[in-house]
Amino acid sequence: MSSQVDPIDKEEDESWFASAAKIYPMEVKGRFRKIKWAILFITLGIYYFTPFIRWDRGPLLPDQAVLIDFERKRGYFFFLEIWPQEVYYLAGLLIIASVALFLMNAIAGRLWCGYLCPQTVWTDLFFRVESMIEGDRRKRIALDKQPWNAEKILKKGTKHFLWLMIAWWTGGAWVLYFADAPTLVYDLATGQAALSAYVWIGILTFTTYSLAGHMREQVCVYMCPWPRIQAALTDEHALNVTYRFDRGEPRAHLKESKKLSADGLPAGDCIDCNQCVYACPTGVDIRKGAQLDCIQCGLCIDACDTVMTKVGRPTGLIAYDTDMNIERREKGETPVYRLIRPRTVIYTVIIALIAGVMLYAQLNRSMTSFSVVHDRNPLYVQQSDGSFRNGYSLRLLNKHNNEQSFTLSVEDMPAGTTLEVVGVHKDAANVAKDTQLNLTVEADTTRSVRALVFSPAGVDLPGSKPMSFKLIDHQTGETTVVHDFFRTPGN
Ligand code: SF4
Ligand code: SF4
Repeated sequence: MSSQVDPIDKEEDESWFASAAKIYPMEVKGRFRKIKWAILFITLGIYYFTPFIRWDRGPLLPDQAVLIDFERKRGYFFFLEIWPQEVYYLAGLLIIASVALFLMNAIAGRLWCGYLCPQTVWTDLFFRVESMIEGDRRKRIALDKQPWNAEKILKKGTKHFLWLMIAWWTGGAWVLYFADAPTLVYDLATGQAALSAYVWIGILTFTTYSLAGHMREQVCVYMCPWPRIQAALTDEHALNVTYRFDRGEPRAHLKESKKLSADGLPAGDCIDCNQCVYACPTGVDIRKGAQLDCIQCGLCIDACDTVMTKVGRPTGLIAYDTDMNIERREKGETPVYRLIRPRTVIYTVIIALIAGVMLYAQLNRSMTSFSVVHDRNPLYVQQSDGSFRNGYSLRLLNKHNNEQSFTLSVEDMPAGTTLEVVGVHKDAANVAKDTQLNLTVEADTTRSVRALVFSPAGVDLPGSKPMSFKLIDHQTGETTVVHDFFRTPGN
């Protein structure tokens, strides 16, 4: 249970096991708040509505732009179609995402945490709902302190109902990525959807409601590993939300500050109004320096800029700045910003390289796939005429949206070798040579066949003779060669 402790007093509690202080963030207006709203609308809009975007792939394939199709065992992402054999695209995307996180960190510290992390985005939304129903900071504190009455029950009930609706919609949107969205919406509404869909919606409703509604900043402070990793990766050139000690101190309340100035005594720009602390969603007092709890959301900058504007002092008392510039200012030197430096260049090059390799692989993507597995037992069978037979399992994958025909042949075997495929009739129309035959594979499917290769009688072969299977796509001319061996007892 959270106690009702003001974040200002959080620091005073010396106990190692103090219960979490409930944070009552104040609503702020300003540049960073606007950026955060914009990001919230864009990211949530993408998440909630993407499953409803249609994408025409022809009559046989689903028309949902983004779909993880477990039934067909593949993923669709607009013009991309990823088969299980191409899961390396996913690995590439994950590597790019990780390096992009490092790049963001090198440029501006916890940019991800403050603006883009789903925990931040949903918590922000839940905060907004809370302040719409219960009022801003002071009203929320007063409401929590007041005894339970009709007003409190109504406000708390409405808030939790809306939180649950958002959480439910979040879970509902998630499952829409795994089936045709309009159909699944209908099935869910009429109780005809699969049980797993309801279970996943239930799990995600619970986690969203708990993490964004109740655990909030505690997820960032206690559960997430990224702040610890990020702290080890950062350097003195990264921009971080920083209080300008050189400008702000010695702090004094406005009247006292004016009096000090009038008396010719030093007075900093900070009027100790605590608005920056009240605005902070994690209860941090940024004037105490860099802290692990600070997610670098910039809301304290907005709060302080508002105060500075009101009292007629320059804004920027709290601002994004680098550790190096803090030192330079202390020494009276001019601040410098170095966006282009070895680590930002290296991260950018890595991202460009991986993206380039993925693009190349996509542009040269094969529309067929062919694999061969030699029988393990028996490795060979001797025929009555003394020749040998080897068996192979072949898998032919046709990624085209129409049936494809292929020519399969055996290469690098002596004259007189014969190829047969179980279940494929070898007639004059089908076969041009003994080592060759034609096969068809239906649209968008994998065909598994069993091939038998017969060596010519009376020809001595080594125990393991290299040979290969060649597959030619009649429509595209694409040729795939798979190397294997022909086994005999040998000489
Ligand atoms: S200290 Fe400022 S930047 Fe850091 S989390 Fe609080 S409001 Fe955001
Ligand atoms: S909002 Fe600005 S002036 Fe007020 S306490 Fe924070 S740093 Fe000082």
